[in-house]
This record gives sequence, C-alpha cells and structure tokens, in this order.
Amino acid sequence: MLSSLKLLQPSTVAEASQALAEHGENARIYAGGAELLLLVRHGLVAAEVLIDIKKIDRLHRIQLQDGTLRVGACVTHHALENDPLVREHAPALASAESQLANVRVRSQGTLGGNLAFNDPHSDPGTALLVHNPAVILGGAGGERRVPLSEFFIDMYATALRPGELLVEVEIPRLPVGMNSAYRRLHRYQRPTLGVAAAARAAGGAIEEARLAVGCVGPKAQRLTDLEGKIKGAKLSDARRIVKEERKRLGNLLQPVDDLMGSAEYKLYMTGVMICEALEAANGAAA
Ligand SMILES: Cc1cc2nc3c(=O)[nH]c(=O)nc-3n(C[C@H](O)[C@H](O)[C@H](O)COP(=O)(O)OP(=O)(O)OC[C@H]3O[C@@H](n4cnc5c(N)ncnc54)[C@H](O)[C@@H]3O)c2cc1C
Repeated sequence: MLSSLKLLQPSTVAEASQALAEHGENARIYAGGAELLLLVRHGLVAAEVLIDIKKIDRLHRIQLQDGTLRVGACVTHHALENDPLVREHAPALASAESQLANVRVRSQGTLGGNLAFNDPHSDPGTALLVHNPAVILGGAGGERRVPLSEFFIDMYATALRPGELLVEVEIPRLPVGMNSAYRRLHRYQRPTLGVAAAARAAGGAIEEARLAVGCVGPKAQRLTDLEGKIKGAKLSDARRIVKEERKRLGNLLQPVDDLMGSAEYKLYMTGVMICEALEAANGAAA
C-alpha cells in the first residue's frame, strides 16, 4: 500500500501549499509520519500523494525573536523536550514533551503534526495554551496568524483550510514572575488527562493564573472563568474554589467516557490536578 504512494519533497512553504492545492484531497502533508503512516497502512486515510515537508529548513527552527519563541512545525517532541530555550521560555511545554508517549514517538513525531492532527488525547496543545500562543498557517494566499485557542475546533478538527499547512508556533514570553507547569495522568501511553497552569503569586495569594485542561472532552481548553475566580485567592482557598466549580467545569469540558477512563473520574481528577499544577507553577515562580 505505502509503495504505491507518490512522494513530493518541497523545499519551501509556498511549494508545499502549491502541491496541496494541485493534488487536493488526494494529498496529505507528511511530517514525522508517526500518525499518518499508521492511518494509511490501515486504510483509515486515503492518500495518493504524500507531501514530505521535512526538507523545508524554516520548519526546523527554534528561535527567540523580540521575546517571542518561534518553533517550526517540524521540530520533534524530543528536540523540544531538550532545548534550553524551550525549557526556560515555556517550561510547561518542555515538561509535556518529556512525558509524551515513548522515546520512539518523541523522536519521530513533530509539534506541527501533533497540533494539526488534534487527537483529543494529546499533551503539547494543553501545555501551550497557558502561554497564549498563536500558530502561523501558510497557504496559496500567503500566511495568517491564528491564536491556538481558536485553532482547536473539535476532536481531529482545526482551523486549517484546504491547501494550508501549519508553519510555526509563536510563544510569547510569560509576564515577569510567572512560571508554568504541566501535570499528566496516564494508564497507557496516551494521556488520560493533561493539566497546565501558569501562575504568579505575591504574599501567598495568586496575582494571576492561567489554566488549561486537555483529554477530558473533545479539545484542549483554557479555563478563563475559573482563572478569574481564583485571582487574589490564597492557594488553600483556590483548592476550595476549584472543588466548588466542578459542575461548571463539567459543562465546559464535556467529559466523555472512553478507554482512558470514565467521564466522572476524569472530571474528579481534573480538580485534583489543577491544584497540583497551580502549586507546581507557583513553586517554580516563588
Ligand atoms: C504509539 C503512539 C503514542 C502516542 N502517544 C502520545 C502522547 O502520549 N501524547 C501526545 O500528545 N501524542 C501522542 N501520540 C501522537 C504523536 O505525538 C503524534 O503522532 C505526532 O506528534 C504527530 O506528528 P507527526 O510529525 O508524526 O505527524 P504525521 O503523522 O506526519 O501527521 C499527522 C497528521 O497531521 C498532518 N500534518 C502533519 N504536519 C502538518 C503540518 N505542519 N501542517 C498541516 N498538517 C500537518 C498530516 O497530514 C496528518 O494528517 C502518540 C502516537 C503514537 C503512534
């Protein structure tokens, strides 16, 4: 089956998007192939042309420019886990990448492939959300910038339009004194639950917090209402507020029963792990 596929290897984003436009639904972007080759082999995805984007230099860069970290779509999970710039600038992301699956998947899979595929049981998207990032999407009409929170639409559905590829992730610097952390729960390789927090505290009270949860429902999400409610609270009070908000969290996250755990279990553990992630982010910031 794989031997009948045509492989194209563009060297620029423009060439890749041109190939996508030319071959339409018969073509797929091929990055690490950790997901795609399995889908093609099992006949779950029909493709005649694979557009291998790994020859595009720009997609392999990790660069800090004017306080914004730019990560190319083809940077692997393994590279992100170990990169000093990523560890310093986006600790939640580095932590999520270090816990993802196993060393084989981390060495093969890319950040762009992970975000573009948008499997609900994924780690990097959740960790990134507390950093207010944006993705750069490239197509025949040029490039556009979309906040990551708007890029995730539903499970396996993103804001990518036909003919577009994910080019880069832009991660702004966290506010001074704020740090981020990621906590993960898993029974199998893929996560049952992922929680990220970024926090800044003063005098034992939370001055500012950002929270994100993934894997519970169809997509990773920020918890902006809860962030507002715990602002100004002591960490011990935040724990009580999170518990009181569990019903509202359920309405937002739409937990589902699946092989990774029951909806009830995931929701209960979300409350526990929000507090753990907050404490970790807070401890790192102190
Ligand atoms: C056994 C196993 C365990 C895993 N465990 C985890 C886990 O614990 N946590 C986790 O987060 N993930 C997990 N994953 C998912 C893994 O991280 C992704 O498979 C990987 O990151 C996808 O990247 P890739 O480069 O291999 O994408 P590919 O397989 O090459 O592509 C995946 C999909 O995205 C599209 N695509 C790829 N790159 C782009 C781009 N730049 N622009 C637009 N579309 C693009 C492809 O067309 C395809 O549809 C696991 C996967 C496997 C196989």
